[in-house]
Amino acid sequence: MTGAFDTLPTSDTLIDPFGRGIDYLRVSVTDRCDFRCVYCMSEHMTFLPKKDLLSLEELDRVCSAFVTRGVKKLRITGGEPLVRKNIIWLFNQLGRHLETGALEELTLTTNGSQLEKYARDLKSAGVRRINVSIDTLDTAKFKTITRWGDLTTVLRGLDAAQAAGLKIKINAVALKGINEDEIENLIQFAHGRGADLTFIETMPLGDIEGDRTDQYLPLSIVRARLLDSFTLDESPHRTGGPARYVTVRETGGRLGFITPLTHNFCESCNRVRLTCTGTLYMCLGQDDAADLRAPLRAHPSDDLLHAAITEAIARKPKGHDFIIDRRSKKPAVARHMSMTGG
Ligand code: SAM
Ligand code: SF4
Repeated sequence: MTGAFDTLPTSDTLIDPFGRGIDYLRVSVTDRCDFRCVYCMSEHMTFLPKKDLLSLEELDRVCSAFVTRGVKKLRITGGEPLVRKNIIWLFNQLGRHLETGALEELTLTTNGSQLEKYARDLKSAGVRRINVSIDTLDTAKFKTITRWGDLTTVLRGLDAAQAAGLKIKINAVALKGINEDEIENLIQFAHGRGADLTFIETMPLGDIEGDRTDQYLPLSIVRARLLDSFTLDESPHRTGGPARYVTVRETGGRLGFITPLTHNFCESCNRVRLTCTGTLYMCLGQDDAADLRAPLRAHPSDDLLHAAITEAIARKPKGHDFIIDRRSKKPAVARHMSMTGG
């Protein structure tokens, strides 16, 4: 094989053009999901043909290549990662990098629907902390938001995860007029169970059959309102992700805010994202991407893959430019969150 990759180094750690070290890879293992959350998907999504997906063995190869280049944290996401057939095999494979110490954390983001079934397997594979997405504690509202989901099943999954010894962070997307009256309840619920809670602003990713300006609730408003009931102490806590944390004095629990729209968090970005087809996105909010599937499949050795990774990181942009406003109804990028993973 010859080509543009030949002259590029392959074994060094990943530093982008702005001097940011890349040590965090998020991997969407499937674009499919058993829910259809209103901010994430349209009701009638078309999914990728299965043949376009990287096999679990190929996902292991790409993830392992990143680990040898200094990636310390892997987050498995989707779509719903736990609906991918045999997914526990991948967790078990990747768990070997935890044993050698090359990888510091293997984690996942899930809607919780399959947790009852898999919580113990995840723990055995080496997973210690997971993110579970729950936007509301109202059964009917849960159905409205997720279209297909069932809150009771998710809560059973949460119980199973905690019983298995997994630490939980609950993620909730703040939605105007939908769960904005539940913010305090969600805090009491999460902190009452010893879980962290993070609120996320809706991001303009993919067409969703609706107007995002109707959903968008700035977290600056949420935070200001919380001060009526709670005392929020700034916390230095970081998880390697973009959330900024406070401690809620009244509950003793941790509360995070992910604010891509009201506060641009790109300056400290340490991550890249791989789709289930092997496309590497260097920024969640930009369209530029690198195909890793072709170099992966071109040769059984990882040389071409490493060269393609090096070349991709050299193109990582400075940041995104999300806006949600009434004049531009189009999403900032065309792909859905379920493709690149949250
Ligand atoms: N299915 C899993 C879940 O829901 O946790 C993992 C994938 S999901 C795409 C990851 C996270 O992205 C979830 O917490 C979800 O609420 C969030 N998300 C999806 N679409 C979003 C959007 N347009 N803006 C902000 N967050 C979004
Ligand atoms: Fe599925 Fe997660 Fe998207 Fe909801 S947010 S539709 S659970 S991928």
